[in-house]
Amino acid sequence: MSIIKFKPWAAVTVRDLVSGQDFQHVVPIDDKRDHDFDHECKCDPELQVTEDGAIVFVHTSFDGREYTEALLDLSQVNLN
Ligand SMILES: [Zn+2]
Repeated sequence: MSIIKFKPWAAVTVRDLVSGQDFQHVVPIDDKRDHDFDHECKCDPELQVTEDGAIVFVHTSFDGREYTEALLDLSQVNLN
């Protein structure tokens, strides 16, 4: 039996110094490379807008942890 250990993610609020607006960033913790808390991060973060209008940057991990998580999600699908 193997145990797959998830690496964690964090939700961080960052205030833009120019506009004063708050942005949420969802970033992988302990990734292979550091992330910048702006839209120019090298991981090319996905911009999402929540129902209440908050702007969220969802970063992409450099270690590919999303793929493991996606496979585990598929393994939870009940085919019966
Ligand atoms: Zn990033």
